[in-house]
Amino acid sequence: MDRINRLVDRLRESGFRMTPQRMAILRILLESTTHPTAEQIYAQVKPIFPMTSLATVYKTVALLKEMHEILEINLGDSGSRYDGNNTLPHAHLICVQCSQIIDSNSVDLSQLANNLAAQTGFKIDHQRLDFFGICPACQTSLIPQI
Ligand SMILES: [Zn+2]
Ligand SMILES: [Zn+2]
Repeated sequence: MDRINRLVDRLRESGFRMTPQRMAILRILLESTTHPTAEQIYAQVKPIFPMTSLATVYKTVALLKEMHEILEINLGDSGSRYDGNNTLPHAHLICVQCSQIIDSNSVDLSQLANNLAAQTGFKIDHQRLDFFGICPACQTSLIPQI
């Protein structure tokens, strides 16, 4: 995996000590396509490295976010979800019923950002586009309203 090696180099360069726990957190973030929460990442690392703390997960996540290597989807009261798998700008479809988050590449966010920058003179740093609704699986399990 090229990306993980490159990322480890970047983290070391910024003075971050790469422990096996942090390596495991990194791997989960990069491989997961489900947009996990910090708690979900923690639950996956804990059985392998029982010494891991939730604080370590938060710290690693915060640093990677700062480095623009992962994407944070802040959902307010429901907390934050993280995407370390797909780092290209993309839209998200969020199910309000089961909280599943799906990536969509059918909207060219970079193009949209470029257009907006040209129109407004904004220097756009990053972008987010979220669509909220009910996923197909939840639609079929919904009890019809009388
Ligand atoms: Zn759903
Ligand atoms: Zn995503």
